[in-house]
Amino acid sequence: MLRLRVGIGATAGTVIASRRIERGGYVRLEAGTASHTGRIRTSNQDSVGLVDGLYVVADGMGGHRGGEVASAEAVAAMLAVFDRRDRAGLVAAVRSANRTILEKTVTRPDLSGMGTTLCALAVVSSASGDEVLAVANIGDSRVYRFAAGELVQVSDDHSLVADLMRAGELSAEEAAQHPQRNILTRALGIEADPVIDSWELEPVLGDRYLLCSDGLFNELDDGRLAEVLAAGTVQESADLLVDEAVENGGHDNVTVLVIEVVAGPEAREGRRSTVPAARSERSTHVRGAAEKGRIAFGTALAMAACVVATAVLVLGLYARQGWFIGSDDGDVAVFRGRPSGLLWFDPTFVEGGDLRLAGLDGPIRIAVAETIVVGSLGEARRLIEGFRAGMEGVPSEEA
Ligand code: MG
Repeated sequence: MLRLRVGIGATAGTVIASRRIERGGYVRLEAGTASHTGRIRTSNQDSVGLVDGLYVVADGMGGHRGGEVASAEAVAAMLAVFDRRDRAGLVAAVRSANRTILEKTVTRPDLSGMGTTLCALAVVSSASGDEVLAVANIGDSRVYRFAAGELVQVSDDHSLVADLMRAGELSAEEAAQHPQRNILTRALGIEADPVIDSWELEPVLGDRYLLCSDGLFNELDDGRLAEVLAAGTVQESADLLVDEAVENGGHDNVTVLVIEVVAGPEAREGRRSTVPAARSERSTHVRGAAEKGRIAFGTALAMAACVVATAVLVLGLYARQGWFIGSDDGDVAVFRGRPSGLLWFDPTFVEGGDLRLAGLDGPIRIAVAETIVVGSLGEARRLIEGFRAGMEGVPSEEA
């Protein structure tokens, strides 16, 4: 049922596709996908995953090969572990992808600082047993729904400019041109327990969904996305979207998945096109429920000491990796470690004290207050020099 053609040779990102045993159930999806490195970047750090009933797009970041590895590992982990077919199961698979990246970062210091966005769509069961679509998102890759001729963005971007837009400080037009539009406020591979957004949506025959990296919507506006989604097969739409994004500039890797509900309930009369607000949650209670009962009590007790010792070692190594810029009592400062700290491994102050947070421009002030993760002390210093000089030297996903 899945047809697959992705940009050829050097232009392809990582694509992971396989068939699974057919699910039972009524709702069927058909997908087309395409990806391109674009005109500026030298490698494609986007990855795509598709198996029957699960679709994933990830946009990696981090120097050298880090971004490629992060997005490919995340997608592979999602496909490998997604077995509980409900919304919480999809979110749990995203968390598993996060753990995979963090573990890789510990064993491969050369990949330190890598991370990825990720958005996913799957056919799952609702609490009442109906087949529904679950969507999960972290970062600024997007999920759109194209239904009854109308394009609606389902996911919320976890980026600095999106925060500023939600706060009413930036218009959509200003955000689209903003020099800091690549700064993410959430991503996989950054912290142990990230907040993941998720939704449940009703599958309707003929509805299309678009999952894409930012290389698409930074080149094509919503009107054009809707026009392309309205015509042709899912594969033709995917190919055309990528071709046009590259033609329009191709400033970034561009990856799309176009998915259509080819078997499912008909649209109801008077159906509204709004999508519900996201459920945004950390793992604490989900993990407790998911893992309870999997480990026999006696075995768990016997293993506990060993596991704790290993975990402390690994967490300690991980917690002390990485750099970020944040606020130290109102001063811009560089810290070593993870912004939220991990257990008792608090980040440590490295340097700062000669630049007041209050003196920075609004967007940069907010970004620093929320912390900016960087790859090295040198990068942190360059950025701070940029802040000092005005609006130059801001980070991007390429950094
Ligand atoms: Mg991108």
